[in-house]
Order: sequence, then structure tokens, then C-alpha cells
Amino acid sequence: MALPATLDEAVDALAAEPAAVPVAGGTDLMAAVNGGLLRPTALVGLGRVAELRGWEYRDGHALLGACLTHARMGRPDFAALMPGLAAAARTAGPPQIMNAGTLGGNIISGSPTGDTLPVLAALEASLVIAGPGGARRDVPVSDLLVGREQLSPGELLAYARVPLLHAPQTFLKATGRTGPGRAVASVCVALDPAHREVRCAVGAIAPVPLRPLEAEQWISSLVDWDGARTVHPEALTAFGDYVAMTCIPDPEPDPGTGEIAALSPGLIHLRRTVAALARRALGRALS
Ligand SMILES: Cc1cc2nc3c(=O)[nH]c(=O)nc-3n(C[C@H](O)[C@H](O)[C@H](O)COP(=O)(O)OP(=O)(O)OC[C@H]3O[C@@H](n4cnc5c(N)ncnc54)[C@H](O)[C@@H]3O)c2cc1C
Repeated sequence: MALPATLDEAVDALAAEPAAVPVAGGTDLMAAVNGGLLRPTALVGLGRVAELRGWEYRDGHALLGACLTHARMGRPDFAALMPGLAAAARTAGPPQIMNAGTLGGNIISGSPTGDTLPVLAALEASLVIAGPGGARRDVPVSDLLVGREQLSPGELLAYARVPLLHAPQTFLKATGRTGPGRAVASVCVALDPAHREVRCAVGAIAPVPLRPLEAEQWISSLVDWDGARTVHPEALTAFGDYVAMTCIPDPEPDPGTGEIAALSPGLIHLRRTVAALARRALGRALS
């Protein structure tokens, strides 16, 4: 396994061995290897690339290194900067997973239940991709998640570029009955006072995070941005329902009869869960 010490060395190592697979914390990769889904012939370990393990500020944004671990993102100094990501990182699996698992691995794995993904979607983060010869390109996180953009051979995810909004952000996650674990549904709410916007993304209920844009616009128009930044409690409930109905809509009418089939009990329950998460997430962000 190659163990480069800098980002450019890591890119060079990948370019030199096109079949090599990058590995950060290995939590997803090793699960795939152990499950027989992946047989990498060579690995490029990213654990020694110091520049990918921290963050820096640039032009009103934070550049978050791809090898930031969930444990590191959960600490108070990071939470003061990125409260939504910190809250998501604190729920991303048991402690040994949080100590090893990274932001970049979470993004590249792109699992529907990846906890950082709805936060990055709500914050409209972009990704800095590093390629051979010092090349860098920016890709919206949503484009990578839906497959409009992909990493080319020899490229690495280097940083997530996340706007600094200097306002409350919340992340809430519902898990199955067995307790802590993968999300059944998750919601991130981020306030953007400079643009008088409430941003929201719902995770885990679809292959990629969903943005309920009309619900965002509606609630943004009700927030008293120059005052206490509150809304009427009934508006919180209505927001939760609006988000849930947008993300889990009623079935389309039957083209022949015009009848609308009933939503399955499972989806009714999921809709209630999303509504409750969105209501609470907004309530906490505004409180
Ligand atoms: C028991 C268990 C519980 C878990 N619970 C949760 C949970 O609750 N929430 C959650 O979100 N996740 C959970 N996970 C998933 C996992 O921990 C995260 O997705 C983690 O963030 C992956 O990061 P990693 O560094 O371990 O990635 P790795 O396993 O090292 O890599 C994952 C993939 O990303 C690629 N990759 C990694 N870094 C880069 C890079 N910089 N550039 C290009 N490609 C890269 C690798 O080649 C690989 O394909 C769990 C996993 C386990 C095993």
C-alpha cells in the first residue's frame, strides 16, 4: 500500500497505478472487501496526508479536508464553525467508526444514509477535486451525488468547500427500533440570515438528499429576520408537513380512473417521521 505524505504525492501514486483504490478510514472500504464486493489490487492510503485532516478559511468559506474524521468534526471548536456537520458527525456510527470514518469517505461512498450528505446539500457545498499535475476543479456536491459528475481515474476528493453562514444549523436523525445506527430519515435545517433563507435537506429516504425548495421559500417568508427570528408554532407544524408531503408525495392518479391509491402504512409512518424531524429541526434552529 502506498502511503503518500502530501495531496500531490497521493494523486501521483494514483496516477502511477490506475487500478489503485484510495483508502481513508477504511470503514466502508473494508466492509466492501470483507463482503466480497471489492478486490482492490493496490491501495493508496490517505491517512498520512496532513493537509487533508484539517480545515482553513477562504473567501467566506471553510475548506474542509476530506480526511477529517467524524470524531474530529464532532468536537466543540468544529461545532462552533459548522454546527450542522458537527451534529451529523456525532451520530455517524459507534465511536470506533467515528474515530476512523472520514468526511471524504462518507461523500464518495454516497450511501443514502450518509449523515453528512443532507447537511452538505442544505449548505450547498461544493467539492474540490485534485488531479494530476496540480489540477483542481470544483464540483457541486449534489452533482457528484446524483452522478452528473464523477471522479476521473487519478483524481481524489481533496476538500469540501462549505459557506460560513454564521447562524444556527440543526441536524436530526431517526433510526430504527434497534437504537443508534443508520438513519431511517434525517433532516438538516440551516439558517442563512444574509439571504433571509431557511435551507432544508432530507436524507436517507431517497438515493440522494432531497431539498424541499417550495417549503423553504414559504417558511423563509414567515421568519422575522430583523427581529427575534421566530415563527408562530402553527407555522412550524405546517413546515414539517410541507417538507414531508414534498419529499413523500401522494401516488400519481391512475391515468384511467383518476383514482389516487392510498399511501402504504410504511410510507405514512415515514412521512410522519420526516414531518416531526423537520418541525423540530426548524424549531431548534429558530429558538
Ligand atoms: C458499523 C458501521 C456503522 C456505520 N454507521 C454510520 C452512520 O451511522 N452514519 C454514516 O453516515 N455512516 C456510517 N457508517 C459508514 C462509514 O463509517 C462512513 O461512510 C465513513 O464516513 C466512510 O469514511 P472512510 O474514511 O472510512 O471511507 P473509506 O472506507 O476509506 O472509503 C470509502 C470510499 O471512499 C473512497 N474514498 C475515501 N476517501 C477518498 C478521497 N479523499 N477521494 C476519493 N475517494 C475516496 C474509497 O476509495 C472508498 O471507495 C458506518 C459504517 C460502519 C462499518
